[in-house]
Amino acid sequence: MRAHGCRHATRVVAAVGPGVSEESLLAAFDTVKRGTPAAAAELIIERAGREVVCLDCATRSVLSPQPAGDPAPGSRLSGAVTCPACGGTTALPAAVPEAAVKSIELEV
Ligand SMILES: [Zn+2]
Repeated sequence: MRAHGCRHATRVVAAVGPGVSEESLLAAFDTVKRGTPAAAAELIIERAGREVVCLDCATRSVLSPQPAGDPAPGSRLSGAVTCPACGGTTALPAAVPEAAVKSIELEV
């Protein structure tokens, strides 16, 4: 195995969606990075907000991360949330990756 120059990843930034455990992601990263140029890299986890699309006004909004709880009373659809733009209760979750690497910083 040949290293590409002397570049080492120093920091990996990942965005994770709701429902992903930071502990398990850190543990997985620790396992995966062994023997790679990212072996000494630090994993930075950013909580991604929940993105929703409203069926009433078609606005795409990002909700602040919040702990999972009971759906809002009056929700007509399972998993529907209140639209921050129009207040309607027909905003549906948009596709959000469970975990995605946003950036990798390399030391040259
Ligand atoms: Zn709306």
